Amino acid sequence: MHNLNLKSLVPLDKINVDNKTVVVRVDFNVPLKDGKITDTARIDAARKTIDYLLDHNCKIILLSHLSRIKTADDIKSGKKTLLPVCNYLKTIYGENNVFFATDWLSPVINTFIKKEMKHKQIVLFENTRYQDFDLIKNQLTKKESKCDEALAKQWANLGDIFVNDAFATIHRKHASNYGIIKHSKKWCIGFLIKHELENILKFNANAQKPIVSIVGGVKISDKVILLNRLMSMSDYVLVGGGMSFLFLKALGHDIGKSLFESEMLQTAKDILAKYKDKIILPVDVLAADKFTDIKGKKIKVGKSFNNLMGLDIGPKTTKMFTKIIKTAKTIFWNGPTGVFEFKHFQKSSKKIVRAICYATKHNGFSLIGGGDTAFAATSFCDKSKFSFVSTGGGATLAIIQGSDLPGLNFFNK
Ligand code: AMP
Repeated sequence: MHNLNLKSLVPLDKINVDNKTVVVRVDFNVPLKDGKITDTARIDAARKTIDYLLDHNCKIILLSHLSRIKTADDIKSGKKTLLPVCNYLKTIYGENNVFFATDWLSPVINTFIKKEMKHKQIVLFENTRYQDFDLIKNQLTKKESKCDEALAKQWANLGDIFVNDAFATIHRKHASNYGIIKHSKKWCIGFLIKHELENILKFNANAQKPIVSIVGGVKISDKVILLNRLMSMSDYVLVGGGMSFLFLKALGHDIGKSLFESEMLQTAKDILAKYKDKIILPVDVLAADKFTDIKGKKIKVGKSFNNLMGLDIGPKTTKMFTKIIKTAKTIFWNGPTGVFEFKHFQKSSKKIVRAICYATKHNGFSLIGGGDTAFAATSFCDKSKFSFVSTGGGATLAIIQGSDLPGLNFFNK
C-alpha cells in the first residue's frame, strides 16, 4: 500500500480562499456521443468543491483534459472540445456566470479574469490537452502531457491559489496537475480527492479480515504490480475473466481459443508458485466459438476446450467465488469475471455484484475500482449498496499498488 499520509495533505476547507481567484484542476473527461454528454458523473463529483468556492466568493478558473490529443484532427474536428461541459455547467450555475475560454495563453484572458470577471463566476478553459498539439507547426508537442514548465507557470499565474481535485489523474505528471503546483503560491486538495483517498486507503493490509480481492478483465501485463500487491495483502484472490486463462494455461490446461498473453506465462507461473494457497481459479467456464453474444457451452477446466473461447466463468466457479465473497469483511474488485457487455456472459459478474452487496450489508467494506468494473457494478446494483465506487481507474490502482502519485507529491512532501 502507498505510504501516503492523508494528514499531510492540505484540504480545501483548511485554507483561506475568501474572495480569491482559484485555479481548480478538475476531471471533466466525460463520455460524449454526437457532442452530447452521456454521463455527467465526473462533473457532478466536482460540484462540492465548486460550490464551496462559490460560497466563499471566489472567481473560479477550471482546467481539465478530455480524452487524448494526438493529431490536428482531434482538435479541428471538435470531437474533444469541453464546450458541452461548459453548456452543462451553465444549466447549473446560470447562463451568465459561466464562460468558456479557448485561447488561454492570450493576455486578454488575464485581463478578463482580473478586471471584468466577477466573483462567484466561473471560467472553464478548453481541453488542456489541446496544448499537446501545435496546430501552426502541425506537430505533436505534448506540452501538457510532458509537463512543460512555461505552460505550467502560465496556468498557475491565472489565480492566487491552486486546488487539485482531478482524482483520476493524480498518477500523471502533467503540466496542469503537477507542473502547476511548483508555480502556485498556495495549493491544496479538493473535496473529491479527499473523499477518494479516505475511502481507498481503507483497503489496506490492516483492514478487517478476511480480505478478498476479485480480479478479472483482459490484460495482466499492466496489472502485475497490482496483482502481487493484492496477493500479498489478501486472504483470497479470486481470478476470473480473460486473465484467468493465462493462469490455467500456466498450469498446463487446455484453454482453446481463449484470450491469453503468451509473453506473460512465466510471470503467471511465478505468481502461482508464490501464492498458490491464495489464488482461486475457475473450475469451469462458459465458452463460445467466437467473440459473440450467443449461448455459451459449459466446459470443465482440465477437459478439452474443443477450440472454443472462454467468455465467462462457469456456474460452479461462480458459486465458489460468491461463497467466499459473502464471508469477506473487506473486498476489492477490479476487472469483470466475464464479458459482462454480452447478455449470455454476464451471469457471473451479476452474481458477484450481488455477493459483494450482501457482504457490504453484513458489515463488510467493499471498494470497486476501475472504469469497466465500476460500470458493471453500478449497472447490476445501486451504487449505494457498495461501500465505495471510485471515480478513477488507473489512479485507484496506482494507490493500491503503491506507485508514485505526482499529482499529490508536492502536497505530500
Ligand atoms: P479491463 O479493462 O482489463 O478491466 O477489462 C475489462 C473487459 O474485460 C470487459 O470489457 C470485459 O468484457 C472483458 N472480459 C472479461 N472476461 C473476458 C473474457 N473471458 N474474454 C474476453 N474479454 C473478457
